[in-house]
Amino acid sequence: MGVTWSKRTQAVHAGTRRSQYGELSEALFLTQGFDYPSAEAAEARFVEPGADEFIYARFGNPTVAMFQDRIATLEGAEAAFATASGMAAVNGALMATLGAGDRVVAARALFGSCLYILEEILPRLGVEVAFVDGTDLEQWRAAVTPGTRAVFFESVSNPTLEVIDTAAVAQIAHGVGATVIVDNVFATPVFSRAIEQGADLVVYSATKHIDGQGRCLGGVILGREDDIPGPVETYMKHTGGALSPFNAWVMLKGLETLDLRVRAQAAAALEIAGALAGEARLARVIYPGLSTDPGHALMPEGGTVLSIDVAGGREAAFKLLNALKIIRISNNLGDAKSIATHPATTTHKRLSQDQRARLGITPGLIRLSVGLEDPADLIADLKSALDMI
Ligand SMILES: *Cc1c(COP(=O)(O)O)cnc(C)c1O
Repeated sequence: MGVTWSKRTQAVHAGTRRSQYGELSEALFLTQGFDYPSAEAAEARFVEPGADEFIYARFGNPTVAMFQDRIATLEGAEAAFATASGMAAVNGALMATLGAGDRVVAARALFGSCLYILEEILPRLGVEVAFVDGTDLEQWRAAVTPGTRAVFFESVSNPTLEVIDTAAVAQIAHGVGATVIVDNVFATPVFSRAIEQGADLVVYSATKHIDGQGRCLGGVILGREDDIPGPVETYMKHTGGALSPFNAWVMLKGLETLDLRVRAQAAAALEIAGALAGEARLARVIYPGLSTDPGHALMPEGGTVLSIDVAGGREAAFKLLNALKIIRISNNLGDAKSIATHPATTTHKRLSQDQRARLGITPGLIRLSVGLEDPADLIADLKSALDMI
């Protein structure tokens, strides 16, 4: 439904299912099971359920189906499977694709838990994992050897906001028949072009911008009809990473306002990055929305997150964090509340100092997820905190 509509209209209406009551707002079907009219009907449904026929909430649920259909339409994907968290989505996409003896090539700059799956779990199962600098196409060309089964990367890396050329990497991967799996959290469905750029599977942590108000965990895997339903859905159904109907309902309502929120947050992030760009107390301001940023051509919309490198290292970064009055110290992103994170001591603590240095995660680096507050207040908060260093 609604493939010709603009994204804003799709985000409000696509995928809506109405019960016999004709409720206007999406219903929350808080049920794990479904009542079959007869034994024969139960038998038939287990052979091949119809589009509006459900068996068990681990496989599907009407509220979850509305969320899946809406986000698939928005992303321009043929199908979606909703998951309990972003990590359930990343794990599901990788596990459904890879087996013992396969090779996967991944960008080195990854979210900590993604790195754990690639560094610890996949090798244990006999998958060969190679890492590259995601922004260096020569490294991708050299590493994606014939027989490579998949490539995996975050389209915009966390927390250093390097933008990867999805179309170019997809072309390299497809040259050897590899599946392109993209973790697209920082791009958000609003700014995503992943499917048209050649991604085969796109994953989101819905916990971030899709909820957008820091309430629920959730995730989604998007792709083609032959993958979902197919190996991805089969893997997810039988391993238990399903999204709860309640969380799906929260995410559905989140999609209605996603476009407005993300665009407002990105506009504020650009304002803040511009206001901080000349700051002497900052060694670096990283934001793809700035025309001087190396990722600008690939991600001109910039996104909702920027990173600053405080001159003076960890001590100065902690002073700044502790002096903030509006911006909260936490580790979510995409939230209505602005959030500051110190990656070196929290989200990326697992990495060795060498690994952090290699990824540009310096002791002074602070990641700022820009919320829905007035950007003038956020700039004032940051400037007065900078004065406290
Ligand atoms: C948060 C995040 C995840 C994991 O999502 P959860 O919902 O926390 O499981 C994966 N990838 C990226 C890039 C993220 O930011």
